Amino acid sequence: MTVPFYNFHDLHDEELRNQVKEMIGEIIDNNAFVEGKYNAEFEEKFAKMQGAKHCLLLANGTDALEISLLAYGIKPGDKVGVPGITFHASAEAVLNVNAEVVHIDVDPKTGLICPESTERMIKEHDLKAIIPVHIYGLNAPIAELEEVCAKYDVKIIEDSAQAQGTFYKNGKPVGSSNNLVTFSFYPTKNLGAFGDAGAILTNDDELAKRIVVIRNHGRGDDNAYGRNSRCDHMQAAVLVAKLPKIENYNLQRKEVAKKYHEALKDLSVQLLPEEYIQSSSWHLYPLQLESVALREKVQAHFKEVGIGCTPFYESALVDQKPIDKCPGEYEVARSFAGKTICLPMHPFITDEDVNFIKEEFKKVLG
Ligand SMILES: *Cc1c(COP(=O)(O)O)cnc(C)c1O
Repeated sequence: MTVPFYNFHDLHDEELRNQVKEMIGEIIDNNAFVEGKYNAEFEEKFAKMQGAKHCLLLANGTDALEISLLAYGIKPGDKVGVPGITFHASAEAVLNVNAEVVHIDVDPKTGLICPESTERMIKEHDLKAIIPVHIYGLNAPIAELEEVCAKYDVKIIEDSAQAQGTFYKNGKPVGSSNNLVTFSFYPTKNLGAFGDAGAILTNDDELAKRIVVIRNHGRGDDNAYGRNSRCDHMQAAVLVAKLPKIENYNLQRKEVAKKYHEALKDLSVQLLPEEYIQSSSWHLYPLQLESVALREKVQAHFKEVGIGCTPFYESALVDQKPIDKCPGEYEVARSFAGKTICLPMHPFITDEDVNFIKEEFKKVLG
């Protein structure tokens, strides 16, 4: 028996594949290749679903972060805070607009950005913006961060690449805040295209206008240059086709998370706090082992018996080049990284899969 990390076979069933083929056939017949009617349809539906006024589709999730920084007026040399536990694209976007990264430390139980560390870094480094990440699908403490950032006029860009289906503590969907909120629709995300795509959600009309200008070579503003980050029509069609299924799939992920939690809670592993079970999108199911050595042992054993797993993230951002010399706080992130293992997580994990993983865990943990 094997339990793969992803399951595209069931996700992209025959009905969906046929639907997409038909849509793409129509796009080819109509010669409507970029920013077509499916772009507009997805933008409207996704904004509504996430409780935002505007959705702007883009070429990918990293562009969404970069364009958010530009839309907020972040300039070369400005300092932007990034949490130590995230996919490195969160920091890459800062470098790509020639701004500087300042490391912000994380919560030892979740890997989420720490509001107290954020306030210290704002004061010490005069940050112009921060990029809290809803890592693994867990909601970052946005209300607390907003309170801190309002005092110092610091912009917030929420990296929601892993949080399609996550709810804030107030029960509203991620994307409904008054910050710029970025998404990636890379194929492995909860809602994925058949290629690259991304988006920004915002409630601000002016920012939405600026983003539309930037994503299409500055068109619409005679005094501006932009770039090309248009989302092609075929990817938008795939997203329109997949969107109606996503709510149910996220519920199924939640059920899987509950089953893992029940099965593993008596083992000597550190699970995420139970309070996140309802609010997370469960993009990933991470748990912490006592040491890096034990994580390596578990990983090797799981590989041998056919359980897909990944150590997101093997190191904190501060231990990754080229931002290893950037200032900030990172002690907790450093001790958090390396000990994490992410178990297979998708809507089609069965009771049998969970049981198999539990039994194999018991064998390695002894
Ligand atoms: C996937 C991801 C990104 C980047 O998205 P792309 O679409 O690959 O550019 C950024 N941040 C986080 C946290 C991600 O998981």
